[in-house]
Amino acid sequence: MEYRLPTTVVPTRYDIRLEPDLDAATFTGEETISVTVTEPVTEVILNAVELLIQSVAVEGADGVAQHGSVALEAEAERARLLFPAPIPPGEWRLRLAFTGVLNDRLHGFYRSTYKDAAGLSHTIAATQFESTDARRGFPCWDEPAFKAVFGITLVVPEGLAAVSNAAVAAEAPAGPGKKAVSFADTIRMSTYLVAFVVGELEATDPVMVGETPLRIWCVPGKKQLAPFAVAAGAFSLEFFERYYDLPYPGDKLDLLAIPDFAAGAMENLGAITFRESALLVDETAASHAELERVADVVAHEVAHMWFGDLVTMVWWNGIWLNEAFATFMELLAVDAWKPEWKRWVTFGVSRAAAMGVDGLQNTRPIEFEVRAPRDCEAMFDLLTYEKGASVLRMLEQHLGPDVFRAGVRLYLDRHRFANAETTDLWKALGDAARQPIPEIMDGWIFHPGYPLVTVEPDGPALRLSQRRFTYLEGGPEGQWRIPILLRASVKRGIVEKHLLLEDRELAVPLPAAADWVVVNAGGHGFYRVRYAAPLLKKLLGALARMMPIDRFNLVSDCFALTQSGAMSAPEYLELTARFTAETDRPVWTVLIGSFAYVDRVIGSELRPGLAALVRHRVAPAVERLGWEPQPGESELERQLRGDLLRVLGTLGDDPATKERARELYARHRKDELVVEPNLLPALIAIVAWTGGEEEYAWFLDRFKTARTPQEEQRYLYALAGFRQPDLLSRTLERTINGEVRSQDAPFLVRALLTGVYSRGLAWEFVKQHWETMARQYPGSAYRRMWEGITALVSAEWEGDVRAFFGSRPIVLGGKALEQYLEQLRVAVSFQDREGQGLATYLGRIRR
Ligand SMILES: [Zn+2]
Repeated sequence: MEYRLPTTVVPTRYDIRLEPDLDAATFTGEETISVTVTEPVTEVILNAVELLIQSVAVEGADGVAQHGSVALEAEAERARLLFPAPIPPGEWRLRLAFTGVLNDRLHGFYRSTYKDAAGLSHTIAATQFESTDARRGFPCWDEPAFKAVFGITLVVPEGLAAVSNAAVAAEAPAGPGKKAVSFADTIRMSTYLVAFVVGELEATDPVMVGETPLRIWCVPGKKQLAPFAVAAGAFSLEFFERYYDLPYPGDKLDLLAIPDFAAGAMENLGAITFRESALLVDETAASHAELERVADVVAHEVAHMWFGDLVTMVWWNGIWLNEAFATFMELLAVDAWKPEWKRWVTFGVSRAAAMGVDGLQNTRPIEFEVRAPRDCEAMFDLLTYEKGASVLRMLEQHLGPDVFRAGVRLYLDRHRFANAETTDLWKALGDAARQPIPEIMDGWIFHPGYPLVTVEPDGPALRLSQRRFTYLEGGPEGQWRIPILLRASVKRGIVEKHLLLEDRELAVPLPAAADWVVVNAGGHGFYRVRYAAPLLKKLLGALARMMPIDRFNLVSDCFALTQSGAMSAPEYLELTARFTAETDRPVWTVLIGSFAYVDRVIGSELRPGLAALVRHRVAPAVERLGWEPQPGESELERQLRGDLLRVLGTLGDDPATKERARELYARHRKDELVVEPNLLPALIAIVAWTGGEEEYAWFLDRFKTARTPQEEQRYLYALAGFRQPDLLSRTLERTINGEVRSQDAPFLVRALLTGVYSRGLAWEFVKQHWETMARQYPGSAYRRMWEGITALVSAEWEGDVRAFFGSRPIVLGGKALEQYLEQLRVAVSFQDREGQGLATYLGRIRR
């Protein structure tokens, strides 16, 4: 099917007037599109879907109009405007009148609802147009390369706020009880960045950041949750103006919290929309992870105002240019704002998650061909964001941050108000660096997968060699140009060496008598490392002297090698005993993640053994940290305390921890000030794990009456953490009965599919209700829900899963489903291969 639009007619300007009816959930619209016709045409093809186009006319400079008719191509989401006489080349205006529906699917022009303190329901109309849903709001050339200026007018009831991309230019009465709000012209930009929000919203007082007023918008009564995002937004805006050396491209910056929102946030120029939990937060009650999330998302979206909005990819195959860059810039900005958060170190967890997907046979290159709208959506994944950001960081470190920044500035300056491709970025970076970039980068961007670098002693030297890393045997090989930073401990101290591994192998002379050697020092490289046994042994003896990110990579790589069969599970679990003195949170994240993985693979008879192992590994760290926050400790240490206690009280099944957590939570129920914010999520998880009917009812009530979006999320997901089947069944019921917002329900289902005690029930439930879920949930979240099947680790379940998908028309777009099925295959193979070894090893652990 043909999805792309012809270029014989090109829009330059849209004047749009929209009137939403929030009660009827409909809207009417009129638009005048200024177009340039390059060759005579009798039909004009543009995008429209779920719109009723009532009239269409084309007129020239003389004002004489020719009326046309409309043929809709529903499947291709296009409209053909047919005219009796040919339209000659030149400048023309198309006039269209149309109506549409404010849908409840959280895309296009949609409605979001919330209840006020008195329990009254209110409706907001909002937009989510990326990737290809502007065509649900107004007929348009809905491809990123058709940039145009937008002049928008919203006709709304007098008491409501109306927000769009640009500042309000005029307000005029528009019939009884209504006003017409006209906004200033936007810059030349793509349709997917257009936004309208209408509703009973209130704004914070504007904060001036240079020339730009910055505000937060939210439903009434939540403004007190805005200050943290204001600070993050103001810092980011200033940071990026300096980094990019270009002024902010809009005339104001509004950040809007929308109660129903499918993604995390959306970078509409000047009117960034967020789900509430990614913007509104109580700084005194939130955990470090919750604050970090808000800072990350705000910085990410503000970075897009230049990277994405001012300069945009030509087509969706280049979406990584937008997202990888915004993710990279987000980390740079947050790291500058809160250096004590060590954001580049904690990013290791995200990098490893991307490697988890990219180690599959069913991975894809970062830049990948895209045709259908569904495949655009599937591009918003770990490979685009996290792998993309990782390889940019690798390049930045290779070229040097100043040279890299100079190249970025050159790129933005050359292509502002226009579109660009990956080759344009390489050209600009290459010009700044005076060296060719494609040679290094093409392997990382246009080829799937990543290398495993094997390190072996070779006399007095080291031998490095590369091959592709995959979890399952087979599949095509690959070869990369790998920037390597090698760090070695020698007699006179630490020495570092920059290398480029271009061929299969490289011999590296080492200074005499190196004690230990780290390859991929600093962790910027997107590859895994396998050390020969004697080298690994030396590293394990020197953990305390290594950098945290290097310890992180060591464990992460060893566990990946275990999943791929290159290391045995008992050998890996034995290795984790070396980390009882560990103090770094990301290292613990990967350790805890690997214990949870083993938990999904083993039978219930081995669980006490695994619990004992977890206690042995975790308890010393908990003893060191204590339950009480210590004066002078960092936010990361507080977060770590929460993480460790949580795992000790659940997976570790530690009686003393469970008892104390329940006591503390009981005190918290009476007095909210008792518990440190980073500890509370751990207590909630342990209370769910050990709790029953009474706790469930209390959590449900707390979910429904939560004071902050973060509190709402904690109690919602805790409903998936109980262990009694009847309680879990009730949680499952709530995923489709309307009690849980459709923006959250798919993720709750995913959590239930992943939990060891809930997954069997959840799988039966999903098999029965997947059609209801497909109907109710936003597409992107519905796709991610299915990731839960990767936890159904048994040959029997795997067979059932494959049979299920084999006989149903479930299409997730891109390679999502193939990836989930392969991850399940990896886990079941692990179970086959390691089952006996794990039984012996865990069976021997003294309880
Ligand atoms: Zn983004």
